[in-house]
Amino acid sequence: MNREKIIVIDFGGQYNQLVARRVRECNVYCEIYSYKTDPKIIQEMNPKGIILTGGPNSCYDENAATCDPILFELGIPVLGLCYGAQLMMHIMGGQVCKAPVREYGKIEVTVDTSSPIFQNVAEQTICWMSHNDFIKKSAPGFQTIAHTPDCPIAAVQWKERQLYAIQFHPEVLHTAEGTKMLSNFVYQVCNCHGDWRMDAFVENTIKAIRKKVGSGRVLCALSGGVDSSVAAVMLSKAVGNQLTCVFVDHGLLRKNEGDEIEEIFGPSGPYELNFVRVNAQKRFYEKLKDIQEPEQKRKIIGEEFIRVFEDEAKKIGSVDFLVQGTIYPDVVESGLGGESATIKSHHNVGGLPDHLNFKEIIEPLRELFKDEVRQAGLELGIPKNLVYRQPFPGPGLGIRIIGEVTAEKVRMVQEADAIYREEITKAGLDKEIGQYFAALTNMKSVGVMGDERTYDYAVVLRAVSTVDFMTAEAAPIPWEVLGKITSRIVNEVKNINRVLYDCTGKPPGTIEFE
Ligand code: GLN
Repeated sequence: MNREKIIVIDFGGQYNQLVARRVRECNVYCEIYSYKTDPKIIQEMNPKGIILTGGPNSCYDENAATCDPILFELGIPVLGLCYGAQLMMHIMGGQVCKAPVREYGKIEVTVDTSSPIFQNVAEQTICWMSHNDFIKKSAPGFQTIAHTPDCPIAAVQWKERQLYAIQFHPEVLHTAEGTKMLSNFVYQVCNCHGDWRMDAFVENTIKAIRKKVGSGRVLCALSGGVDSSVAAVMLSKAVGNQLTCVFVDHGLLRKNEGDEIEEIFGPSGPYELNFVRVNAQKRFYEKLKDIQEPEQKRKIIGEEFIRVFEDEAKKIGSVDFLVQGTIYPDVVESGLGGESATIKSHHNVGGLPDHLNFKEIIEPLRELFKDEVRQAGLELGIPKNLVYRQPFPGPGLGIRIIGEVTAEKVRMVQEADAIYREEITKAGLDKEIGQYFAALTNMKSVGVMGDERTYDYAVVLRAVSTVDFMTAEAAPIPWEVLGKITSRIVNEVKNINRVLYDCTGKPPGTIEFE
């Protein structure tokens, strides 16, 4: 498949994935690579264009991240953003130094609208700036095409050689016309056609899987989350009954969730596949007995999950392929793509049960961002409520219960969470709030109900607004709604006598409550 591609070269900037997402939103496929990547490899990929991202360094420092000057000689259009812009100037003979006035935040920029990159952009436009250094003198051959009061060179171009450098961040949504600028780059400068479309992706992937699998047998671990569900449906459309999906119910799912997953993927559902549900609740509760520490809980649940899955796989006999729901951010964050490297080793990447006997792994979503996975899900006809399901951690309610996990505590948090979600939907807030759930504290306190003393648990309600799940703020839920939820939980869920609301953002909190 010869699809057009833009390469994002990552210098460790915090917005690197955003750059790639925005380009994809323009229907152009895009991949992220570290700045250390050999330019030969980049050239072999035959990209339509190259984008250099921002980064924390100062390009004139001795050990600063850099790139091979050859990149600017390949005849491939290059767009440098922030650090990438400064680096391009530095390498090509301009001058970059500490700016007399650093700029941070939304700044009005004056742009030259005759430049291809600023076509159809307003002459005065709000852009997101975040820099300490600035381009004092542009490199020979370049012409200034934007400025601000504090930044005389906010963008430059060398039109004939298709080189562009921008000091601000078009990838950040605060840059009012940023998407237009990136779209100008890929369409006006790189001459892309825009062949990256989810319907075509889904169709091609299904065909490719069919070809690869042949008459082989495929095994998929289904969690009921968005990624594994989309992967499973794709595989079922490609190879039907050659696919077996194993769904491990660890007893730490949301209320009724196990049955919902069975309804969709089980024999009475719309898909052709072999569905195996393993009710392993007891096994997990036993392993979790007396365990308090959240990291330890995560490890135990993760390991037990693999053991259960292996036991099932053995029963099925030999399989040829194993499906993984890896998505592109997992790849990038595991250090395999860009430079944000080694932030975390992701459970989906490389964390396989190694005693299983299979020939190869299939990762149908490996190239997709989360929102693209959702689009693919819709293309595949998966019900909306599943496609837009909230993120749910692999260890499930096991980490939304503070302290020891027991069947009884799971019941409490499931019931409270179900009421919470029901009321949020009724209040019409479910689309507005990024993520919300109930967690169970390990605290008991005195209350009074029906004139009788109670000594019971407190449940915590968490709700956050977030765009990217990297940072988040507590969502302001109207007091009446909270009041209604509180009285329903205390009345309906046995052994809960208090409801608390978590006002903490991320940072300093996390989105989960463990
Ligand atoms: N570190 C460079 C500066 O401070 C680039 C910053 C960035 O890329 N956001 O100017």
